[in-house]
Amino acid sequence: MKKLIVFDLDGTLAESKSPLDAEMTALLHELLVTVKVAIISGGDWPQFEKQVLSHLPQDDRLGNLSLLPTCGTKFFRHDGAWEKLYSEDFTAEEKAKIVGSLGKAVEDAGFHAAKLWGEAIEDRGSQITYSALGQHAPLSEKTNWDPDFAKRTKIKARLDAALPEFSVRMGGATSIDITKPGIDKAYGVRKLRDILGVSLKEMIVVGDAMFPGGNDYPAEQAGVVAIAVRGPEDTKRVVQAILACLDDDLPPDSFVGDHALRSRVSPCLPMIDKLSS
Ligand SMILES: [Mg+2]
Repeated sequence: MKKLIVFDLDGTLAESKSPLDAEMTALLHELLVTVKVAIISGGDWPQFEKQVLSHLPQDDRLGNLSLLPTCGTKFFRHDGAWEKLYSEDFTAEEKAKIVGSLGKAVEDAGFHAAKLWGEAIEDRGSQITYSALGQHAPLSEKTNWDPDFAKRTKIKARLDAALPEFSVRMGGATSIDITKPGIDKAYGVRKLRDILGVSLKEMIVVGDAMFPGGNDYPAEQAGVVAIAVRGPEDTKRVVQAILACLDDDLPPDSFVGDHALRSRVSPCLPMIDKLSS
């Protein structure tokens, strides 16, 4: 039986850093009547507020929604209001070491930017993110800065040597993320398992980067049934298929118009355990 549907955020429920559109919001709201839903993203809580929560109706259905910013190093659930269950933040000592090493690595590599748009170093509690041109740099500047990852590879090499106890990863156009090791979507689904008491076999994960090297792939590798999507429009069709299947009044195969979609979604559907049943 499947008890929980886990979505990626950027590229899956919404375009990158953009809000959910009206159709996706309505579909998600409808889904929350019947099954438990979770959203895991590498982004931090303010991103969830901006992209998801400011659009969803504020009602009891939110009790079925779990939100896991920064891949599950933070966990939020709704019980009248949103509450943070935990946040596995770096200690002040760890932060100081990471920030100091970052400054030195950038200097030593010779890539200190002459102009910054906002702060270069962002403290997300459980993740420190370095944005070479500042957090608010225009996209045009960012895309030209390090298209072949050559600059960041040199900075990363210095950081790997200075911070062997942490994980250093390149992301986006200009950024480097530093976390504790092993923080990925597999970590997130295991957190859901532990907190909600739902086994990995009882979950379905939906994401746009479900391929080796993609950031949704670790969840599939951890043993969760995965549905790969090509973007938010594709995700809407998957959610519609799930909704139609959960509707007792419709024959089981009435949700399909699209053969490819059917083959991706249908193996998971007969096993969804409805909350209401
Ligand atoms: Mg994605």
